[in-house]
Amino acid sequence: MNAAPADQIRLLDLQAFDSKLDQLAHRRRSLPEHAEIDKVNADHTALKDLVIAAQAQHGDTTRELTKAEQDVEQVRSRAARNQQRLDSGAITSPKDLENLQHEIGSLAKRQGDLEDVVLEIMERLESAQTRVTELTARLEHSTVVLTEAEGRRDAAYAEIDAEVEKVRRDREAVAAVVPADLMKVYAKLRETQGGVGAARLFQRRCEGCRTEFSITELNSIKAEPADKVVRCENCGRILVRTADSGV
Ligand SMILES: [Zn+2]
Repeated sequence: MNAAPADQIRLLDLQAFDSKLDQLAHRRRSLPEHAEIDKVNADHTALKDLVIAAQAQHGDTTRELTKAEQDVEQVRSRAARNQQRLDSGAITSPKDLENLQHEIGSLAKRQGDLEDVVLEIMERLESAQTRVTELTARLEHSTVVLTEAEGRRDAAYAEIDAEVEKVRRDREAVAAVVPADLMKVYAKLRETQGGVGAARLFQRRCEGCRTEFSITELNSIKAEPADKVVRCENCGRILVRTADSGV
């Protein structure tokens, strides 16, 4: 394959732009913010679940308290009714009086027990409320941390993307001039040779694979016409001869 020496040299510029674009893409993919955001996101999701569970616990305990307070109220009103009947003097039979007094005593004991239950539930409700408050605060904090990390990531993206845009424009200007058949070989080599399709011959070495050529090999490269597209014998990349290649 033949190509004008100037076009072969343009391949080196193209290679520099393409390598720069590869680096920028790699930088975009491996921003430290990605791992950070993944971690904060996982924490955030876990916290959300905990808040939901704590709120459910709080709701259950609230209903439990209402029920226990109703139980106390029921016993209290029954005791009050009995007391009223006792105070009214309407009951005269000693047996009935004794039964009523006995029941009033039992109800007082029952009310005391139920009030203890209410107190115990109130304590649990307070703990549940504290937990909801704490977890909600942690969730809010994690939202702030997440938003902040996403902001840093987006700022880094914007910076990288602006540079990509500029390098792409510069690359297009060069790519538009390089002959299509040369571009095709270069592109194919870039795919198979780790992103490097064209390398300079410099100080007896292929700058693509760093192989140092023997004098004999160098002489045979030297013997090739300037418009011959030379390939490195070791890596197969397009070997570009420049003014400082020493050939
Ligand atoms: Zn090579």
